[in-house]
Amino acid sequence: MNIWQLLTPDLVIKNPLWHLDVTSLEGIRGMVLDVDNTLLGNRELEVSAPVRKWVGQVKQQMPLWLVSNNCFHQRIKSIAESLDLPFYANAAKPSRRCVRLAIEGMGLTAPEVAMVGDRLLTDILVGNRLGMYTILIHPPVPIDGTSRLVRDSEFWLARVSGARLT
Ligand SMILES: [Mg+2]
Repeated sequence: MNIWQLLTPDLVIKNPLWHLDVTSLEGIRGMVLDVDNTLLGNRELEVSAPVRKWVGQVKQQMPLWLVSNNCFHQRIKSIAESLDLPFYANAAKPSRRCVRLAIEGMGLTAPEVAMVGDRLLTDILVGNRLGMYTILIHPPVPIDGTSRLVRDSEFWLARVSGARLT
């Protein structure tokens, strides 16, 4: 696979997570969700009502696991517990290790699982490396200076390398 293919999401949602209609995803039987800037802003402590409602509905239909690169274990643990979801923190995506463990935990195979996140070089890259269905979403709240710069730089890099981001 070329780098542009590895950075191209299968689906781009130009809205926050709760706009994702899972009934439209054929063959997807589980989801791995990023946490920061996917479920909530990286400075927020609690998920919003729309995210809580979306998670509540989707987890009736398929297993959801949280896999975060955040090294503050307690933050990710408390968010996961508030949603009653299993999780891995400090996952070092695009390393495949924790995402693969989550897929195994669901008892599914990678092509049956969607990787959902806001970042190309972590979430989309790890998902594509594993052969998952990759979904790029828009952060739920405006992101701050450094995070924004990193995300914008990734998009620039991906576009320059030929990735399709629409
Ligand atoms: Mg994120």
